[in-house]
Amino acid sequence: MSVLRLAIPSPVRRLFDYLPPAGVDATVLQPGVRVRVPFGPRQLIGMLISVEPHSDLPRDKLKPALEILDPTPPLPAHLLKLARWAASYYQHPVGDALLQALPVLLRKGAPCEYAHEHLWRATADASLDALGKAARRQRELLQLLQEHPQGISSDAIRAEGGNTQLLKTLLDKGLAESFVHHPPSRHAGGKDSLLRQPSLPLNDQQRQAVEAINGADGFQPFLLEGVTGSGKTEVYLQTIEAVLQQGRQALVLVPEIGLTPQTVARFKQRFQVPVVVLHSNLTDRQRLDAWLKVREGLASIVIGTRSALFTPLQAPGIIIVDEEHDASFKQQDGFRYSARDLSVMRAREEDVPLVLGSATPSLESLWNAEQGRYRHLQLTERAGNARPPKFELLDIRQQPIRDGLAEPMIEQIRQHLGAGNQVLVFLNRRGYSPTLSCHNCGWIADCSRCDAHMTLHLSPPHLHCHHCDSQRPIPAQCPDCGSPQLKPVGSGTERSEQILRQLFSDYPVLRVDRDSTARKDALAQIMAQVHSGEPCILVGTQMLAKGHHFPNVTLVAILNADGGLFSADFRGMERTAQLLVQVAGRAGRAERPGHVLMQTMHADHPAIQCLVDQGYSAFARSELHDRHRAALPPFMHLALLKAEASRQGRAEAFLRAVRDLLERGGLPPAVDLVGPFPSTMEKKAGVFRAQLLIQSPQRGVLQQWLGMLCEFLEQQPEARKVRWTLDVDPLEMN
Ligand code: ADP
Ligand code: ZN
Ligand code: ZN
Repeated sequence: MSVLRLAIPSPVRRLFDYLPPAGVDATVLQPGVRVRVPFGPRQLIGMLISVEPHSDLPRDKLKPALEILDPTPPLPAHLLKLARWAASYYQHPVGDALLQALPVLLRKGAPCEYAHEHLWRATADASLDALGKAARRQRELLQLLQEHPQGISSDAIRAEGGNTQLLKTLLDKGLAESFVHHPPSRHAGGKDSLLRQPSLPLNDQQRQAVEAINGADGFQPFLLEGVTGSGKTEVYLQTIEAVLQQGRQALVLVPEIGLTPQTVARFKQRFQVPVVVLHSNLTDRQRLDAWLKVREGLASIVIGTRSALFTPLQAPGIIIVDEEHDASFKQQDGFRYSARDLSVMRAREEDVPLVLGSATPSLESLWNAEQGRYRHLQLTERAGNARPPKFELLDIRQQPIRDGLAEPMIEQIRQHLGAGNQVLVFLNRRGYSPTLSCHNCGWIADCSRCDAHMTLHLSPPHLHCHHCDSQRPIPAQCPDCGSPQLKPVGSGTERSEQILRQLFSDYPVLRVDRDSTARKDALAQIMAQVHSGEPCILVGTQMLAKGHHFPNVTLVAILNADGGLFSADFRGMERTAQLLVQVAGRAGRAERPGHVLMQTMHADHPAIQCLVDQGYSAFARSELHDRHRAALPPFMHLALLKAEASRQGRAEAFLRAVRDLLERGGLPPAVDLVGPFPSTMEKKAGVFRAQLLIQSPQRGVLQQWLGMLCEFLEQQPEARKVRWTLDVDPLEMN
């Protein structure tokens, strides 16, 4: 009798053997179907990897599986292969990786089918007169049904206050009926009724890009590097149009949907085809239905964040990764995969073109383009009549600063508002001030769980640690010397908002950060006010940098962005440049010219000067050169072995012991170990952290060796006293 070899979401890095459930012929089962199994005291959902003739375990040690959940696998074979490949590349337990590729409801064992297939409607001759006055709730429900002649789902009925009991009553009285609803089907191809709005006439560079992408014969990766406002989205739209004409589907990955509803709106406004948006506000049920719609080919375009990478397409036509440099494409905990990097694998597997788009491409992608692995498409000019913004540095070393604002900056803001324009004020720090300090003895409010200061917030008033989220009241006096003179030091968005309100009391000041937009619809309301076009000041964090189109903003005022220049992380410079260029890109996106003014203590920093004088491309080329000399990525492949423990020194000691053992066993010549070191913030949320850097110029060698390293670590008894994780191609080095 055969054995089921299963991937099960357990931290153990291996597959598990089970006997088939009673009465099931294992030989007809396809890999990828879900299987419910007993696992210790619990039941878990696993995924079938293969059916084997025998197991390494004696037969009487094997338990029978409980149930096969699917007649056919939810994921097509090539996505199963992709998820397995990712598990092995990122050294993540395969069961967890495979299950993470599925929508949550499927992980929990729900049937792989629509919930909203069955809809309700009133029967043709149903009349309210058939119900007595007393049957108020039945009348209300019938009215609701009559208002929805196309049918309404039982979920929606429940949301309106109805229930299944009432429905059954109407059904029995012949007033209501249920029917099977077929969602509108994907565009079958051809030009008819594809567009809701005409496409824009392209400029030369855009047209060359669209032609290159549409001309791709199967798999081909493109790096679309287009300055902010150059019309990358229009390029996406017109390549997708060609894909739809062939009756195929497009998968579009974006960093954060909530922040840029405008981008999604542009896809929906352009095309007359079903568009599915996988955003974080969907319920698990809605997400599964949306996922199924794409898998069955009922939606033509799917837009989603990182995890949407694993959405099966029935007729794949193109994959687009917008803002490909964005760090959110890499998952930062658990299964630490990069959706951007995996999208290349997926596009190759599905034999479709891949477009990585950005105004500020990652150095990795630029290097791939330079090596000829990606075809480099460039849009160097803004689309339409918009001109590039003028970028200027404001040296504040000799300037008096008023709550974070230098006098010439205030003057500029005044002029732009006076001319009837909008101003965007950027600083990358939320809260009122990053430190609260005693004027008398120098005491600083620190977090007790992290090596970090607490941020002072005034609305509502409290101290908040931005690293572990702990909060406490603001003390009335210094806990060390008793002085009541506690002073906020430095500025965050709340403080800038306050001073801007005082200085410019005639204009609305709108703050955009995680705190001010926590309430649902808050961001939408702010954006509506900005889009009204009236002069106003927008003040906020990097939330303002992401993809927004603010046609009336003519001045972008950057208050502090120097921090990243001297970061311990070798990517600090790259990140700072990307952020600056993206923020600056919000200025002058329409008819009126834009101006960017940046306060800095380091006006003569060569990288900043290169960025300001010559633009991102030049900056990136010089940065690549430095990386090459320093043997850093993309010229070196990295993995971080991280450990954390509740006692100081333990994580580091563990990594040191690991290093000694590994070196005694002999490292391959191409693999180097650096460290261990305590993390930059050693204590975070009450645990002490350390890391060992593993590097190799040869990706393949590193890969193989990391696999052995994980096996080795799992066998170390010491490894159970710390929590260790391995981050392959880490984006954050601290
Ligand atoms: P990006 O995504 O590169 O920042 P967008 O696609 O948002 O740029 O385009 C910026 C603005 O230029 C948008 O308002 C867009 O409608 C407009 N635009 C894009 N392409 C064209 C074109 N070919 N002709 C006129 N306007 C265009
Ligand atoms: Zn004090
Ligand atoms: Zn903390």
